[in-house]
Amino acid sequence: MRRVLALCLVASLCAACSVTVEQSSPGDRVQRDRPWGLTAARVNASDGLRVLVLHDMEGLAGQDDPRTFRFSHPEHYARGQEMLAADINAVIDGLFAGGATEVHVVDGHGSGNPEPDVRTDLLDPRAEQVFRDEAFDTYFDLPESAEYDAVAVVGMHAKTGSGGFASHTFTLGIEFQVHGQSITETELVALSWGRFDVPVIFASGDDRLAADLETMPWIESVIVKTATSASTAELRPTEEAHADLTAAAQRAVESLAEAQVMKIALPVEATIRTVPPAGLGALSGVPGIDYNGDADAVTFQADTLRDAYDGWVALVGVARTTYPRVLGEQISLLGLDAQLNPAYSDALFDRWVDFESGRWSPPEAPTGASPQRGHGYR
Ligand SMILES: [Zn+2]
Repeated sequence: MRRVLALCLVASLCAACSVTVEQSSPGDRVQRDRPWGLTAARVNASDGLRVLVLHDMEGLAGQDDPRTFRFSHPEHYARGQEMLAADINAVIDGLFAGGATEVHVVDGHGSGNPEPDVRTDLLDPRAEQVFRDEAFDTYFDLPESAEYDAVAVVGMHAKTGSGGFASHTFTLGIEFQVHGQSITETELVALSWGRFDVPVIFASGDDRLAADLETMPWIESVIVKTATSASTAELRPTEEAHADLTAAAQRAVESLAEAQVMKIALPVEATIRTVPPAGLGALSGVPGIDYNGDADAVTFQADTLRDAYDGWVALVGVARTTYPRVLGEQISLLGLDAQLNPAYSDALFDRWVDFESGRWSPPEAPTGASPQRGHGYR
């Protein structure tokens, strides 16, 4: 995951540009410098102060084992769930102490657990978990349909290439850039909520995340551990970290009026760059697609941040088609090539001739499964 970033150069090229910034009311566009402009948060607490806690699961206090955020490792994941609830509860405590009247919690991790990563029975009962009838996109669908005065992000990680504990962006091997600048998931959250003039006021995670977030100097940022690689960390005493989480969350609400809203510059020059195990080489040489082979990156222009995000998500689907190479390596390591390769070849052949002969249709979705409540997605 370690590599050298040359992004500052790219960013400096467009630093002098002046572009349109997305505003909450269509047509109301102002000129700002790239990649985003800042506006003061407009606080109206007359009807109470609603704060959204959006959590991830890699930047937790007391956590130095990646298995604790992976649902596929049940025993360790269960410990991770306890750490997650403890960090969130510490933050909730501070948010209420600072003046929040309502706190909602939404899952931004998506471990594969059909239930939210936060166990309801462990969560501070003053907070409410966000559920929907169907799956939704935590980063984009929620801001488009819910109202909050501020957002606090908890248990976050640094971006791809930062050398942080579990550092990545969106999923394995992916980097997102706006106007040539690589962003963290926290900045993506801030830009998404910025469309509705809502600031991110608090973030917790490792030291590399705090360094990444120098772009957001107004937020209260708590370092709960020091990354020593993408899979190892030096821990702070957990109680001390929790006390900091509470104190910083309180300060974040108390100083809400000084918070800044991030407004993306429009149109968005959006880039998706990949590192192993992802890859975009399949798009090399396609006319109309701006593929950079040196960076393994694709750049496109989008009229809105939402369009940029939808484009990234679609291209993540392409980038993930290289993941099965790792499966192939595992099959070889296990000595299963001789058995599986002919079977795979025959299955591909049969799929073709069966479809061509009208004998094959896609399997039906399983019935009888209880409809899952949406609690965020991925
Ligand atoms: Zn994440």
